[in-house]
Order: sequence, then structure tokens, then C-alpha cells
Amino acid sequence: MAELNFNPGDIVVLHLAKDEIEGTILENNDSSFVLLKLKSGYNIGIPKENILASTLVKKFKEEKGNEHVPIKSGAKSIGLIITGGTIASKLDSRTGGVHPLVNPAELARFYPELFSKVNVKKVEVPFKVFSEAMSSEHWIALAQKTKAMLDDPEIQGVIITHGTDTLHYTAAALSFFLKELTKPVVLTYSQRSVDRASSDAHLNLQCAAQMALSDAAEVMLVGHASVNDDFCYALRGTKVRKLHSSRRDAFKPVNAEPLARVFPDKVEFLSSYNKRHSGKTELDISFSDKVALVKFYPGQDASILDFYALKYKGIIIEAAGLGHLPPSDAPHSWLPSLKKHIRNGFVVGIAAQTVFGRVDPYVYSTGRELLDAGVIFLEDMLAETALIKLGWVLGHYGWKKNVKEKMLENVAGELNDRIVL
Ligand code: ASP
Repeated sequence: MAELNFNPGDIVVLHLAKDEIEGTILENNDSSFVLLKLKSGYNIGIPKENILASTLVKKFKEEKGNEHVPIKSGAKSIGLIITGGTIASKLDSRTGGVHPLVNPAELARFYPELFSKVNVKKVEVPFKVFSEAMSSEHWIALAQKTKAMLDDPEIQGVIITHGTDTLHYTAAALSFFLKELTKPVVLTYSQRSVDRASSDAHLNLQCAAQMALSDAAEVMLVGHASVNDDFCYALRGTKVRKLHSSRRDAFKPVNAEPLARVFPDKVEFLSSYNKRHSGKTELDISFSDKVALVKFYPGQDASILDFYALKYKGIIIEAAGLGHLPPSDAPHSWLPSLKKHIRNGFVVGIAAQTVFGRVDPYVYSTGRELLDAGVIFLEDMLAETALIKLGWVLGHYGWKKNVKEKMLENVAGELNDRIVL
């Protein structure tokens, strides 16, 4: 086997039996192959035994400090907020552990395609956690950082990198917290870390950059549209859910069409959207954590509601089918308990545990009984979005008397009466 004399970041030509390939050596924890970033942006893994020789084209020079982010003259500027998750992690080739990727210069080395398309004017790392460790404090901090970037006249749009697991909760929170949005706010992610040849991070970031420069003033999630590495979808922040634990196209629009098909070099809009406008984005971060999401299952004891009513101001129940819970004559009926707690000011919203579709109280008598008890049927709103919205609505003292009206007001595209379900 040839002796290979290069390090991550070096640009090299690898000589194979029938081919010569030029690219940048990427960090790689598996010593049996070399991970190479091609000029096209794709990464390939080449087994070391297939490499006959290598020629060094350009030695990598370590950049020091945060200020050495490449500047591309004439390119538009975006703001970048890094929060953690796989997209901001790399394998440390020395230890094999996963390390955060938060230094902008290092980030530029891992994601050169993003930095070659736009000027990343500002990078903020408000916190560095996997998304399953987040809470409303993180959503509020993110909204504040985003607002500050949006207020910068040079910044055309904001990209937020985020873990996938609870990304749709954050997307919903930002959708309610940022009102009168003036510019694009794009959340993106990766399911596979950047050191892996199959990483989805590169395409997702390039598409995110396109969307951040587009004229859509929306909170959006941008990522792989399919398992192929060809284009992404931009999905509205209140109408999206993680629906697969590992696929690169884990996020799907729910009860909505994608806003746009996004390629690394262009955006094709598919649905109507709010356009950029002048003025200032408003921050509306009043939020109550005293809300919970409860999944109904057959035979569940109604006494669980006493616990929630004691500790919380309101709950969203993921109910069965069209929004059903056991009727009043069923042994495990929740109705008496619901009636009692709602009378005392407890708020109960109903969303569909089927994920897709709309709840409808008028089809069966059980739905009508719930409606009479004061339960709010939340149309086609996603349960997670409904949870965040309920926390936001209950966080506003002034809305105390019209919680139902607020929950059923379409604030950020969370209700869609046009979709044929
Ligand atoms: N558990 C991680 C997170 O959600 C997975 C990921 O980064 O996608 O942060």
C-alpha cells in the first residue's frame, strides 16, 4: 500500500488504478478509507488499498480565531446561529468522540459550499445542546438572537442549525415568537454527521442558504426532500414533523404542501407564502410552561387528568381518530373529569394522534359530548404545534378570556382550511 502523506484540509490528487481524483481531505475516523470532498461538493470514501499514490496540491493552513471566515466579494450576507445536534458535530479523529463544531473558521472548512455562496456576516452560538435537551428557555433565547440578526440591515436572512429530534417544536415556537417577520428564518439539520460520506448536511446547508436569500418571510425548515442528494423542501415551521428516526428526508409537511423545492442554486416556490417586507420583526416571547401534551390510549385511567389539572394550566390531548375519547357511558370515560376541570378554568385542546387529517366533533356523538364539555377542537393543527401555541397563548395574561378564539385564530399558518384531507 502506498504511503499517504496528507492531513484533513489538504487539497490532493489521489492516483487510483484507472483514475485520478482531486479533492479536499476530510476528517475521517475510519482509517481504512480516505474521505474526499470533490469539487462538485459531493463526498466520497475511497478504500486506502485502492490508492496507489497521492500528490499534494495545497497544504491546509490552520485558521486561528473566529474572524477568519472566508469573505466572498459581491455575495449577500446571512446570519448563522448554531445550536448543536449532529449538524454541528464532528468525529474527533484522535479520540473517536463527537465534538462540537462551533468555531466559524472550522465550520467553513467542513462546509465550504455554504461559505462560498454567501457571506456569513455573523455567527452566534447561544447554547450548544442536542435538541432533546432543549426547553422553552432555549426557544426564547433563539428568538432573541434571531430577531437581533434580522434587525441588521446587511443580513438578508438567518440560518439556524439544530438537532433533528425536536426541531419541529422549535420551528413552531419561532413561528409564534417572531411576529411580522421581515426576512427568511431557515432551520436546518443533518441526520448523518459531516464526517460520513452519506452526510446530508452539505445539501441541506446549500439549500438553506438559497432559502435564506429568497423573498419568503417565513419560519421554515429546509432539508432533504427524498433520500436522494438532489434537492430539498422548504416546509412551513408550524406544519412539519419528524416522521422517521434515521432517513435523510425525515421531515414531512403535515396537512400542507411544501412551500418550495430548493436546489443548491435555485428556489422553485410551490405554495403561497408571506413575502419579505420592510420594518422590524416583533418579538413576542411570552410563554407559559404550564402546558402538557397527553396521548390518549384505550383504557387509560381518567385520574391522570387530576394530576395535569393540578400542575398545569392546560393540555393538548392527542385523541383517537377524528378527535375521540371514550363516550360518557364507557367504563373509562374522561368526560366527567374533563367537565369538572374545564369548569375550573383548565384548558383542553384536542389534536389528532393520526398526525395527518383534521379533528371533527360533529361526526360521532362522542365528539359532540366533548365539545359541549368545553374542549377545543384544533382542526388540522399538529399536536406539537398546538402544545407550543397553547403555551404561547396562556403566556399572555391579556388573552385569558379568549383562549379558545386565539387557539383557533390562524397566527402562523398553523391552520390550513384549504388542504383536501
Ligand atoms: N439527538 C440529536 C438532536 O436532536 C439528533 C440530531 O442532531 O439530529 O439533537
